[in-house]
Order: sequence, then C-alpha cells, then structure tokens
Amino acid sequence: MRWILVFGALIGPSICSREKFFGDQVFRINVRNEDKIDKLTRLVNSNNFMLNFWNTPSTFGHPVDVLVPSVSLLPLKSFLKSQGIEYSVMIEDLQSLLDDEDDEMQHNERKERSGDNFNYGAYHSLSAIYREMASMAADFPDFVSRLKIGHSFENRPLYVLKFSTGAGERRPAIWLNAGIHSREWISQATGIWTARKIVSDYKKDTAVTSILEKMDIFLLPVANPDGYVYTQTKNRFWRKTRSRNPGSNCIGADPNRNWNASFAGEGSSDNPCSEVYHGPHANSEVEVKSVVNFIQEHGNFKCFIDLHSYSQLLMYPYGYTVSKAPDAEELDEVARRAAKALASLSGTQYQVGPICTTVYPASGSSTDWAYDNGIKYAFAFELRDTGRYGFLLPANQIISTAEETWLGLKVIMEHVRNHLY
Ligand SMILES: [Zn+2]
Repeated sequence: MRWILVFGALIGPSICSREKFFGDQVFRINVRNEDKIDKLTRLVNSNNFMLNFWNTPSTFGHPVDVLVPSVSLLPLKSFLKSQGIEYSVMIEDLQSLLDDEDDEMQHNERKERSGDNFNYGAYHSLSAIYREMASMAADFPDFVSRLKIGHSFENRPLYVLKFSTGAGERRPAIWLNAGIHSREWISQATGIWTARKIVSDYKKDTAVTSILEKMDIFLLPVANPDGYVYTQTKNRFWRKTRSRNPGSNCIGADPNRNWNASFAGEGSSDNPCSEVYHGPHANSEVEVKSVVNFIQEHGNFKCFIDLHSYSQLLMYPYGYTVSKAPDAEELDEVARRAAKALASLSGTQYQVGPICTTVYPASGSSTDWAYDNGIKYAFAFELRDTGRYGFLLPANQIISTAEETWLGLKVIMEHVRNHLY
C-alpha cells in the first residue's frame, strides 16, 4: 500500500499513459544534392520504417532530423547506406531525455502546487499556463485582460492576453502567436515568459512603454491547446491539431498549413496522415479560424509574429512562393537588426530570410496570411536550438531563449511603432 502511494506520488497520472521511446534515436541526415533530396522526400511520403520527421527535406542545405523507432534502426541504416546518404546520430537515447523532462516538470509542478510562484524556467501544463494568464489579468486589471477568442476542436478555451494602456477598441495592434505546433514547447514557454516581461517592463523600460503608448499587444501563448495537452498525455512529438478526418484513421491537420494563403499549394500535403496535411479547406481548423475571425473583426493589426522551434531562423513572407514580397527589403532590414539584437545577449546566431528560400516552401502559413491581409510586419521565428535537443530543449534554456528572443521582438515592435501606416 505504502509503495503504491509513493509510486503514485512520484509518477503522476499524465505520463504513465504516454508513448515511450525506449531504444529510439534521432538521426540527422545530411542531404546535399537534388537526387538525394528526392530520395529522402520519397522516404517521408512512404512512411516506410515508421519514421517521424522533425523537419522537411529542402534544397537549402539544412540537414533533416528524423525520429527512428528502435526496430527501424538497422533497416534504415542499411537503406541510407545503400542510397549513399550520410547521417549521424543526434540523440542516442531519446527516452532518457524525455524522462529528464518529465522529472523536472513534475518536480516543478509539486513545488508550484505547494505554494511556489509560477516558475518561468520550467515547462507547464495547459491549465498552469491558463492560471498564470488569469492571475496576470487579475493583478493588473487596468492594463491586462484575458480574452477568450474561441475554443479548440476538443472544446478547450483559446485564451489571449491583451495589453492595453489606452482607450479605444481598435488601437493599432501587434499579434504574438505561440505554440501553433504543439511539440515546440519552447514556443509556449517563451510566449508566457514574454507576457510577464511586458507586464514587468511597462513604465520601466522606455521601449516597452513607448510601444504600449501607441499600440495594443495581443498574445496567444498556446495556439493549439489540444495538441499541447496531447504532447503531455499521449505523444510528446505531436505537431498537428486533434480534429477528425472523415474517411481516415489519421488525426489532425497542420495548423500552419491551414491559413487562406495559397492554401493547398507547395509545401503542404493532401494526405491526412502527413505532418503537413493542410486540412479539408482553408480555416477548417477552429483554432485557426478563431484567430482569423478575431484579427479581421479587429481590423487594425499592424504586426503578426509567430513563434516556432527549432532551427534559429527569423523569417518573413513569402513561404508559398519564391517571388519577393513587395516589402521584402524593409522586412529583411528589420529582421537583420532583430537577429543582431538577439545575438547580443549570448551569441545565439539566427539565419534571416524569406520562408520559402530560407527553410522550405510552405503554403497556407500564418505569416503569409497575415501579410496578404494587410499586416505588413509579419514574421516567423524558429527558436533554439539547431538540433542538439530539437523539440526537447532542456528547461534550463527557457529563460535565456526567452530573454534573447525578447530583444529581437522589441526591435520589431519598436520599428512597427515608428512606422505606423
Ligand atoms: Zn512550427
């Protein structure tokens, strides 16, 4: 009896049922020429070896990281060898990284349950993030409010924090989006940290104060709550929404291929089992539709920033075409200054450029939608790291990631404030 109690206290109910990855590894595959990229793309589409790709093969020399189940290690190795494709093992013991992450999270949860303040240097459950949002709104009622802009497929609320120091419903506004891909945990963590930073820097930091004198900031820290809960209860590497696909056993659509911007074009898939499945039609995912409705009803957004991980990239439109965006030069200049400010804190290097030619073609993305709908200052960050831990960035890097990202965000937001249109 006693053992059961101790065991129960040590291992919470959530992770017990979560998928395990004993013996699984993450490979980094280096692809340089078109022929090998084609071979790899066929591998992505075939679902042979039951692989889970962490990014898409592209022509721009980025390596491809892929989760390999233990049963596929030998067959995949010999396949890659036979095709002349080079690879290295990035993560040798995936389950031990997951165990470390779980242990830390639960240790922190226990501390917070027994009265500690919200620890910004830890990963949190959805309910803990939502509670922290409520408490910020309660602590600063004349400046911060928590709005429900809709709900997810599984009926979880979509909460946004609104930071506003002025009267009027439709002041020029900035949209900060995080966690649209649920497994990219550093994004949600950076989102909630950023909310606290805005609250604590207002009236202390001149840049923040001057931005908020003219503009409102809206921050959605968990844009895909169903996916986020799923990463904590079932599968840590879930990326998509959790909607049902009639006629298919596969679940969900990629919420960053679901926006009405060259929907269903290059860099998305019509296969519901694909990680980049675009969904049955634009805005089919209620999480996307809720943000679209909110932004359109508001009508005065000037800036849209989407936080993803990983790869350390700062990108701007377009993702759906190699054609240059009309404002590409200005966006590039701002992004370069932002990346420089970001690097000034601890030397983290970001690559800057348009989505399509920096990472890979991606149709139906939030950034392109924002830009094509009159929100000129549209950017997407891929936060830390460059693959050492990938989606499993250790919690002890949350604060330093959020702090450096904040320096980049401030450069962009100040530029927007100084160039209101
Ligand atoms: Zn992402």
